[in-house]
Amino acid sequence: MQPSIFNVQVPLPERNEVFLMNTFSDAQLLASPDVTGLLDRIKRGEQTFGADERETIDSLVENGFIVESRDDEQQALTTYFTAMREDTEQLRVTLLTTLQCNFACDYCFQGDHGDYNKFAAKMSMEQAEGVAKWIEGRLDTLHPEKFVITFFGGEPLLNLPVMYYLAERCYALCQERGVRQFANIITNGLLLTREIVDRLTPYGLNGIKITLDGDRDTHNRMRPLRGKQGTFDRIIENIKLVADKVPITIGGNFDESSVDSYPDLLDFLKEQDFADKISKINFKPIIKAPAPSTPKGTIPLMAVSGEGKPLNGTCMTSAGAGSVGSSVCDSCHFVDEKMAYLRDETRKRGFPTPDGIHMGPCEIHRLNAHTIGPDGSLYVCPGFTGDPKESTGHIDGRQDPWREAAADRFERLLSPHKEECGDCSYIPVCGGGCSVASHTESGDMHAPNCHKGAFELAVAALAQRTAESFEHAV
Ligand code: SF4
Ligand code: SF4
Repeated sequence: MQPSIFNVQVPLPERNEVFLMNTFSDAQLLASPDVTGLLDRIKRGEQTFGADERETIDSLVENGFIVESRDDEQQALTTYFTAMREDTEQLRVTLLTTLQCNFACDYCFQGDHGDYNKFAAKMSMEQAEGVAKWIEGRLDTLHPEKFVITFFGGEPLLNLPVMYYLAERCYALCQERGVRQFANIITNGLLLTREIVDRLTPYGLNGIKITLDGDRDTHNRMRPLRGKQGTFDRIIENIKLVADKVPITIGGNFDESSVDSYPDLLDFLKEQDFADKISKINFKPIIKAPAPSTPKGTIPLMAVSGEGKPLNGTCMTSAGAGSVGSSVCDSCHFVDEKMAYLRDETRKRGFPTPDGIHMGPCEIHRLNAHTIGPDGSLYVCPGFTGDPKESTGHIDGRQDPWREAAADRFERLLSPHKEECGDCSYIPVCGGGCSVASHTESGDMHAPNCHKGAFELAVAALAQRTAESFEHAV
């Protein structure tokens, strides 16, 4: 018998209590220092306990705070990650309808800069038919309960015919097989209309994520059109038009120059009639990578220059790259603290936001989550579409040795037990961090991308909230 390595504790001296959480079982409680003292005694190998203590021990065992042995716990974690990896309940596809974008964000390589859009790939209807066939094959192999398709880009609304076709065709395929379809769109919001929402709603439209990079002035500076015209007002008007029809998620990319404008954005959103229709708000840092690397014609779904191309905004999971910093990032410390600060500000205004703990492991750990580029190339996650040689296959089944080599590299990623992580308490919710960030920064996607500090801040904040909302426990 020993305490779980996944226990985390936050002392709450003002209450003379300790917040105790287990990141594997997700049990959380407010306990007296006697309980943590008991855990310490068990750790030291003590075996004699009173009747009350035994009762407490039983409850701690039941909630995963005490385990039989380190080996048992390791085995349970491996089983958990294996089940996640091989899960067939859901088939998830992120589809890049195009790499073109109608914005000219200063921090983004993609978009309406120079002749980028002229060469950026766009999926043809013929390719979309190929995608539908490939999805049909996956549905027939896996027999999932749920199919989730997320339209992404570039700007996905620049290729409506492909989006409509795939939403409709996949819905029909799902209907024939008794599978529920959910469709999501990640868009800059400029071209969003009621017609688009009406068109997709019968095919399982489930949510639209729109990016606002700060308050009106800041957003207009960060996300302008090619001619520097602002986009904020138009996006807000578009949200107003559709908010009664579909859940809206607001995302945002912040850096040192923009982060302080986010509370004003939150105040602004709070005043809008659609405030109660916002299903989630989650802001992420813009991460800087060490050197320019992404060639034209590929999607920079990772940071690509010292000027700060976004690593975030590419990540569907809000874990890893998108939500934490990077080891070469010159604002790492800033990022962890500002993430916690913005979550707090968001929550204060009554908007739902992730708690910063239950962030992963991300979809790279799932075999049945795929990203498909506009040319039909397959990737393990959206973050790797910035590097075509990281494609692990193609929807037409072609066999390229370089894709097979990439698939082998990713196969090794599926182990959550990175040696460097040792006995870290956050492995169940982190899995070693974002592989895209590791790949970008060090060239080694297998290295951990560690932001333990961000988890610690998030647990401390959760402890405070729990203390405020519960009278007492244990
Ligand atoms: S590896 Fe990074 S970018 Fe890819 S899904 Fe995971 S957190 Fe997101
Ligand atoms: S990357 Fe860091 S926080 Fe994540 S599991 Fe490894 S050591 Fe823990």
